[in-house]
Amino acid sequence: MDDDVKKEIRKFALQNAVEYDGKTNAKIVLAKILGSRSELRNNVKEVAEECSIIVTNVNAISLSEQKSEIKTSFPELLTYTKKSVEERHGLPPLEGAVQGEVVTRFPPEPNGYPHIGHAKAAIINEEYAKMYCGKTILRIDDTNPENERLEFYAAIKVGLEWLGIKYHKIKNTSDDLEIIYQKGKEIISSNKAYVCTCKRDIIGKNRREMKSCKCSQLDQNKNEDRWQKLFDEYSPGQAIVRFRGDMKSQNTVMRDPFLFRIIEGHHPLLEEKYRVWPSYDFAVAIEDSLDDVTHAFRSKEYELRNEIYYAILDALNMRKPKVLEFSRLEFKGMPVSKRVIKPLIENGKISWYDDPRLPTLEALKKRGITPEAIRKFIISLSFTKADTLAPFDALESFNRKEVDSKSIRLYQVKNPRKLLIKNLPFTEVEMSNHPTTDMGKRVVEVDGNIYLSADDTKNIAIGSQLRLMGLGNVKINRVGNDFEGEFIGDDVNVDFPKIQWVSQKNSHNLKILIPKQLFIDEKFNEDSLEELEVFTEPHYLGLKDGAEIQFVRFGYCRKDSANQAIYTHK
Ligand SMILES: [Zn+2]
Repeated sequence: MDDDVKKEIRKFALQNAVEYDGKTNAKIVLAKILGSRSELRNNVKEVAEECSIIVTNVNAISLSEQKSEIKTSFPELLTYTKKSVEERHGLPPLEGAVQGEVVTRFPPEPNGYPHIGHAKAAIINEEYAKMYCGKTILRIDDTNPENERLEFYAAIKVGLEWLGIKYHKIKNTSDDLEIIYQKGKEIISSNKAYVCTCKRDIIGKNRREMKSCKCSQLDQNKNEDRWQKLFDEYSPGQAIVRFRGDMKSQNTVMRDPFLFRIIEGHHPLLEEKYRVWPSYDFAVAIEDSLDDVTHAFRSKEYELRNEIYYAILDALNMRKPKVLEFSRLEFKGMPVSKRVIKPLIENGKISWYDDPRLPTLEALKKRGITPEAIRKFIISLSFTKADTLAPFDALESFNRKEVDSKSIRLYQVKNPRKLLIKNLPFTEVEMSNHPTTDMGKRVVEVDGNIYLSADDTKNIAIGSQLRLMGLGNVKINRVGNDFEGEFIGDDVNVDFPKIQWVSQKNSHNLKILIPKQLFIDEKFNEDSLEELEVFTEPHYLGLKDGAEIQFVRFGYCRKDSANQAIYTHK
């Protein structure tokens, strides 16, 4: 075999190994080489043997040896990855990022359905990991049993799968609870935290007045005793662990924040096994450090918490990831907060968390927004610092580009008016499903009895001439409630009004839901869901649920069921 070919096989093997923790696989490498050099397909057996030898060889050397071999023998792999990524993604370079070393994570709490804000965090983390050939972790941040439910673990995974997000590792913060306790014990023993048994309102008052409480004076032996009592003696609310911060700090977060508290709730995975739960600040810092995260993203509202994040890791002598902020993503008039959405569901104002007026992933999907559009939209926003509300139509314009070439064109009419066309010289017409993409054709049976939209008949008078798209030209002879006309040929070079139509005899009755802005000026918009009854072509029924359609001269819609479609956008 050619040395050239062997070299290329080695290149693919190294590239793949570095992407996957230093291990590659002969089948993958074989597929790549055959894809790149089609002439080798006549000789698969020999190529496969060579792949297997080279793969064994590559797997036998360490990840760092693989990386350095790429640097010396195949430097084009590094520049190629960098360049293609910049062109494709447009996220700014990541401070302090080293190719192949970046680890990011997405840590959602399983306390609700995932929405556009989660999508932003997940996509930014994944994109950066890809950009630097690094890794990304999905870590379900489940240390507050009062808020968390099993269905949300699943909903998060389903939502992320729909977005096409891939992780190198999936874990739960609660998997590591014992380790987090060890760190808790350690921070108490090093006297950098203490157990406070003051009442809740006293703690609040002291924090406002920048005063320490008497518990903070106790020595470390006493604190170690009290730490043990959290697990078997104190009742919920009787004691918390507090970080020894700075009660005089201008950053209120630093005024001895709590690190552990007692919650006797039912945890979705661990049930009643544990009662002492870490604070967000403590759990996220420990986990990020232990998970080898290099770049920890979170939204800007956490900015004041960075100081405590670093202080906790310093106190425990643990490695510190770099914390970076991005702005929250919300759409104007589309709240993401459960506090706002839940009462609307309870009052029957909206149906459920997948109501197409909401920015949950389920709702966006139902409405016909594609994951590809969401990704491009989020990358286009990148790191705009301002916390402004994004207009929904910005996402729509990305979506339009995604769906246009895949949407079958169909006709629909609303407020139907009857038109009888005399002397129609045929009984069926063939129409293209798409003007430019090859999506096939459909045959529509016609007998001269058709429907037009009332809007399109307003200006019709006797003698009016119309171009009925795909059918032909018609001259109107009688007007009134119903119309009558005659077929006058199929010349397309006419400047008659061009309108869509539906054949009466096989028309299909369809409801179209049109979602509008849910809140206007902070008030629930009672007209936020319009329902439109239309007639469409029978071909609608042949489409799969979830198919995107462009109703000509109306807009894009997603088929929800045989009798209902949801308006996506213009
Ligand atoms: Zn106290």
